[in-house]
Amino acid sequence: MGKKDRNLPRTAFVSLRDMPGTRVMFWVVDECPYCGERHLHLAGNLRDADPADTLGEVPAPCQPGRVYELTLPPRPKRKAGKEERRRARRAARLDDLDDEG
Ligand SMILES: [Zn+2]
Repeated sequence: MGKKDRNLPRTAFVSLRDMPGTRVMFWVVDECPYCGERHLHLAGNLRDADPADTLGEVPAPCQPGRVYELTLPPRPKRKAGKEERRRARRAARLDDLDDEG
């Protein structure tokens, strides 16, 4: 009955923080998809392997029995900026050609 995806974990966007004075890293969920609060998850030790290894499904602290998926947020702004700069450079080059011609 019902759709299976009702039980799929929600996506929780995280940012990586380190604890001052230590080598311990945390994933910070700024806005929990369930309760909207901030949650912290241990991402491992700086000396350990890539903290990205600890991304993925983890139990949501506020929702017993439910999980969410720790995910790095997309960065469309930076990408757009890069594209824009490239376009501007190309336009400038075309202007140069016009001047020479
Ligand atoms: Zn929560």
